[in-house]
Amino acid sequence: MKKLLISMVAITIMSMISCSSEKNNSDTNFKWQIDQFADLKILRYQVPDFDSLSLDQKKLVYYLSQAALSGRDIIWDQNYKYNLAVRGTLDAIYSGYTGDRNDPNFAKFMIYVKRVWFSNGIHHHYSNEKFLPEFSKDYFAELVKNTPDDYFPKELGTKEELQTVLIPIIFNPEVARFRLNQGEGVDMVTSSAVNFYEDVTQKEVEAFYAKMVNPKDTQPVSFGLNSKLVMNDGKLLEKVWKVGGMYSSAIEKIVYWLNKALDVAENNQQKATIQYLIDYYNSGDLKMFDKYNLAWVSDLTSKVDFVNGFIENYGDPLGYKATWESIVNFKDIEATKRAEIISSNAQWFEDNSPTDTIYKKKEVKGVTAKVITVACLSGDCYPSTPIGINLPNADWIRKDYGSKSVTIENISHAYDMAALGDGFIDEFAYSQEEIELAKKYGAIASNMLTDLHECLGHGSGQLAPGVKGDELKNYGSTLEEARADLFALYYIADPKLEELGVMPSFDAAKAEYNQYIRNGLMTQLTRIEPGKNIEEAHMRDRALISQWCYEKGKPTNVIEMVVRDGKSFFKINSYAKLRTLFGQLLREVQRIKSTGDYNAGKNLVESYGVPVNQKLHQEVLARYKKLNLAPYAGFVNPLLTPIVKDGKIVDVMITYPTDFTQQMIEYDKNYSFLPIFN
Ligand code: ZN
Repeated sequence: MKKLLISMVAITIMSMISCSSEKNNSDTNFKWQIDQFADLKILRYQVPDFDSLSLDQKKLVYYLSQAALSGRDIIWDQNYKYNLAVRGTLDAIYSGYTGDRNDPNFAKFMIYVKRVWFSNGIHHHYSNEKFLPEFSKDYFAELVKNTPDDYFPKELGTKEELQTVLIPIIFNPEVARFRLNQGEGVDMVTSSAVNFYEDVTQKEVEAFYAKMVNPKDTQPVSFGLNSKLVMNDGKLLEKVWKVGGMYSSAIEKIVYWLNKALDVAENNQQKATIQYLIDYYNSGDLKMFDKYNLAWVSDLTSKVDFVNGFIENYGDPLGYKATWESIVNFKDIEATKRAEIISSNAQWFEDNSPTDTIYKKKEVKGVTAKVITVACLSGDCYPSTPIGINLPNADWIRKDYGSKSVTIENISHAYDMAALGDGFIDEFAYSQEEIELAKKYGAIASNMLTDLHECLGHGSGQLAPGVKGDELKNYGSTLEEARADLFALYYIADPKLEELGVMPSFDAAKAEYNQYIRNGLMTQLTRIEPGKNIEEAHMRDRALISQWCYEKGKPTNVIEMVVRDGKSFFKINSYAKLRTLFGQLLREVQRIKSTGDYNAGKNLVESYGVPVNQKLHQEVLARYKKLNLAPYAGFVNPLLTPIVKDGKIVDVMITYPTDFTQQMIEYDKNYSFLPIFN
């Protein structure tokens, strides 16, 4: 539940600094953005200091990256059970089509293919709604007809059978319309296309997992995390994702590479961590998964680190099932110092937070923080990726053993560089003063907000006795992100940060407040289609906080809406009062989480986090369109190539591919380990 996604405005603001600070002169010669289509752009990230790793560390990164890429198919099948069939067919046409590739329709076909690659399936990665091709069914039939038979996946039968199955899936907007549907009053299981449940209703799923809860168990496993729940001969059955179970052929490859990684692990703690993960993949035993998490969260000394597994539950409308993901990384030692200063003062922040004393942790344990450089992204973290992670997710582990919190600096840096001077802030900032503040402090403030959110926000607070943590159901993710954001927003303006030497002045906090409110009330609407509500958890969180503060601050005009030359702007009149409002809302959201107050949580999200001001939305979209920017970004991975001499790896070379399509085709070819249907 704990992923931090970049907000677009932050990107723009941070870019201004990178420009003037000349952090890295070679940056300007590096091509950061390599593609743009639909509402998406493809960037590259650099892996600075890869060459400073030892040979064993490089090998470790390489093996873990292979393990990462080996699981890639799993997220496709999890997102929707026909995604691999669609991908196999699109790949076949891309590789084998003998017709005219200069036809404008073929360009439309390629845009569709790239969108599918980007989303790991046919649903938009952010809005969750199915996107449709801009070419016709007839053109699709022509593409299929002019592609030799043997290019197509055998499982789909004849070309006719293939079209019968796939045409409704690709072209009919009503078929599998939402990847996940968390709409009010719907059966979230049957109306969601995700492949976590089959022939069961939301009620049946909830009853099934409610029975597993033992209130006396202080170390409960994450029920249902690694399985698909199906109705089989009138009985509910979990198909477990493990070696010998569902997704076995991909998991076997992951295990193969993890075994290689074992041989070059940096120390015994890391060895134990990898071994537990292998045991878990072999057994599917969730107790073993917790052992792995405990070992992983205790490993603080290894330079190389990784996430690999069924981790986050955003993809399941009910929050039981986890999507598969992997991130391979190593520590950025300089930048880590900044995060460590925050973490080592965790107890002070906990004690002084505006939350009710009974919901505070008496003792904040093991809040560790580090800044990392990623070397490979896969599964649910690719191509679209978070800029921060805080794991593990199990509440009892977090409470008793702490969590590992990381900020992914090289990804943020790539965003900064790619967004250089794109005109976004000039269009939406209220004043030149705001722009100047952003230029001067935007980057440092954004990094600090990420640190506070990840290192302290998610780890703060405690549940009331008897509260399990899943009471907020479909509102849980939004409220959890809001809680972490509010903690960060409240403290970013605290004099304590200047005292600790990690923030230069109150002006830096102002820069962050400007950007947060501008984004939450206005600019994030550029990611929403006309007439739609806000669906995604992080966007709901930002809207909730900004709208609530705007409304509650009206009597004293804390945030003012100003219309100038027909354009709307939001102007903060009192930063101190706004900070007080952040504190008040933090207190309430913490109470909601601690007591599991579903109704209050629902009311907050539905009132402030979901609705869109239609008139403002139209205006923002029109202004944004003129800038010709893509609102979402994803990344290609660097290519790691082992240099082999006399049968031994003597070095690992890193290069930066420049072609999104080529990387996708290579991954589809080299890492397709699952059958079309699972
Ligand atoms: Zn978060």
